[in-house]
Amino acid sequence: MGRKEENIARVQALMADLKHVRNIGTAAHIDHGKTTLSDSLLAGAGLISEELAGTQLALDYDEQEQARGITINAVNASMVHEVEGTQYLINLIDTPGHVDFGGDVTRAMRALDGVILVVCAVEGVMPQTETVIRQAMKEAVRPVLFINKVDRLINELKVSPEEMQKRFVRIISEVNDRIKKYAPEGFRNDWQVNVEKGTVGFGSAFNKWATSVPWMKRKGISFKEIYESCKSGTQKELAKKSPIHEVLLDMSVKHHPDPPTAQKYRIPKIWHGDVESPVAKAMLAADPNGPIALMVNKIIVDPHAGEVAIGRLYSGTIERGKEVYISGMGGRSYHVALVAVAVGADRMPVDKVLAGNMAAVSGLRDAISGSTVSSDAAMDSFEPIVHYSEPVVTVAIEAKHTRDLPRLIEVLRSISKADPSIVVEINNETGEHLISGMGELHLEITQYRIVNEQKVEINTSPPIVVYRESVPNPSPTYFEGKSPNKHNKFYVEVEPLEQPIVDAIKAGDIPAGKAIKDKKAMALKFQEFGWGKDQAKGVVWIQDTNIMLDMTKSIQNLHETMELCKDAFIEACNRGPLASEKTMALKVKLVDAKLHEDSIHRGPGQVIPAMRSAIYGSMVTAGTVLMEPYQKVFINVPNDVMGSAAREIQTRRGEIIDMKSEGEITTIDSICPVAEMFGFASAIRSATQGRALWSTENAGFRPVPRDLQPTVVKKIRERKGLKPDPPTADYYAG
Ligand code: GDP
Repeated sequence: MGRKEENIARVQALMADLKHVRNIGTAAHIDHGKTTLSDSLLAGAGLISEELAGTQLALDYDEQEQARGITINAVNASMVHEVEGTQYLINLIDTPGHVDFGGDVTRAMRALDGVILVVCAVEGVMPQTETVIRQAMKEAVRPVLFINKVDRLINELKVSPEEMQKRFVRIISEVNDRIKKYAPEGFRNDWQVNVEKGTVGFGSAFNKWATSVPWMKRKGISFKEIYESCKSGTQKELAKKSPIHEVLLDMSVKHHPDPPTAQKYRIPKIWHGDVESPVAKAMLAADPNGPIALMVNKIIVDPHAGEVAIGRLYSGTIERGKEVYISGMGGRSYHVALVAVAVGADRMPVDKVLAGNMAAVSGLRDAISGSTVSSDAAMDSFEPIVHYSEPVVTVAIEAKHTRDLPRLIEVLRSISKADPSIVVEINNETGEHLISGMGELHLEITQYRIVNEQKVEINTSPPIVVYRESVPNPSPTYFEGKSPNKHNKFYVEVEPLEQPIVDAIKAGDIPAGKAIKDKKAMALKFQEFGWGKDQAKGVVWIQDTNIMLDMTKSIQNLHETMELCKDAFIEACNRGPLASEKTMALKVKLVDAKLHEDSIHRGPGQVIPAMRSAIYGSMVTAGTVLMEPYQKVFINVPNDVMGSAAREIQTRRGEIIDMKSEGEITTIDSICPVAEMFGFASAIRSATQGRALWSTENAGFRPVPRDLQPTVVKKIRERKGLKPDPPTADYYAG
């Protein structure tokens, strides 16, 4: 039997023995060494050859990732690790490190029970460290800490052993502060990481060594010895004595929970169905004999097998031919075609995967990232995965050759399935399709996939910013909108929606874009936010972060036209009055209406334009503003080029929020409009001779500066083929 076959056989046997299974992942701020760590772990555990790890980067399997050297997709790998004569199956899930791909990180977290937080010893806790801790805590994933790049601390920063320990203490306490802040109830203290207990490791992923206090005690290695070894360039020997995979996988086996233990507290956090149902009981116990319950966290498109769904199996056994249902697919059933476990870009076919493990499954054609797959057609879905970013950049693409038109549409559909943070608008009439994403890089990668992996040649427009429209204050009074036949009138007021409510909608605590089933419960929810009873019970519809309210009192026939009013509201939300961009954070109140007695005179052709004009008119009188997306930009540069880096921000309407220097390095913390960020990557590279490390994070929308707004609005309107100047209130008064 070859090594690969041997592995398959071992994996298959271990899967059934859940006490000896761990589902773990690594998470970090970009460049802190997550990918290097994952590779060293894999190499050590024998699934890829040791010499290749660290240079080959098995987990960064996408060509695009290789070229850029960042991790974009979460990929899974199963491996075998032995502790004191007992074999363990470690399912390692690599998570993306770029906040542009935040949706992917959250979905990967959903599959984990334990996470190794990687923090760079030189940079310390960074904004994305906090983001990934928050995501892990939200999904009830237990953390341990690995402080990486210790070799750099010693060899480049030349810190003393005392100074080094001080730095470790600071990182540990900053990590613990954040764990405490976000940990699920009941775990705030238990999940604190602690040097003595062995939940903190430190070392060098690149040089493949690590250590921890219990390990040092057990092996009789002293702190001084490690320090000296780095200094004298004998890290290779250190890696033999203290191999990173031994230290960290031992830590994981000891401190991360096994699947049945984790599922007991994780299921109630990630699934809110009937706790008495058979599927609930099976999931709480990770029972392989229960109904199938699989949460898909990733779709990959395989040139041979087609779409492959990868996910965590919480209960049941998945094998070929089994009949399953996918949430939201109207009760259609699907048959499992192939089952495998994933190792980097490879998949090892297996006969079946048992509850508590990760599975790669083909044949689930309509599954998307986030789908619930079950053998029980009536199973409640897992909690939707909420991620905080919204698309901020759009490009228009079209097929270079007409013969590729149908194929391009097919490719776009599968891309939006695989990456729900990409929004695709297909336009069959013009053939010009829009794709929107979290940033310039996110879209570049998507285009790369279309061209190089899916082999469709495309023309692409330059990236454009996604704007929003909103109002800064309430409209001075109501605005009257008349129907074309003048027999119907609607009176509307608008005002900004309260920020806590906007946040609740974004977090998914208030559901948007669907019919309100329980009006009473919804009203109570709004009362909790301080709304009076009348207003709270008037909610008609929530579209994105906009709310429409019916505040009228007993108007004859209004009830029948409310559906049309709602349609008008949705239209107005999708195309604001200023530049036909979507609106955000609006409270639209219908305060009065006059309707024709005869329903023939108040059809869609009359009501919709009237209501729409009322909304637009009141927005215009409230002084509609154009909102633009901002990004936080964090830059790390050597002191001598700090000035040039700072200038790059200042010339882009950016604002420097904080600047800290430590030793040779300055950290710049700033914020910049996305519109000015195009081309930043190459500009900062040439300004600093490629010596800057930087990352970005989306930071929500802010008004375009007053003096710029007219120019920006004009440009958008011209691009869309609209008259250059937006209509005034008189236009809507008709
Ligand atoms: P990720 O973005 O978190 O996946 O980070 P990578 O694993 O891609 O690492 C970022 C950079 O840091 C790469 O150039 C690595 O070679 C380097 N690196 C990672 N770990 C270490 C380490 O322990 N010591 C040193 N000196 N460099 C490291």
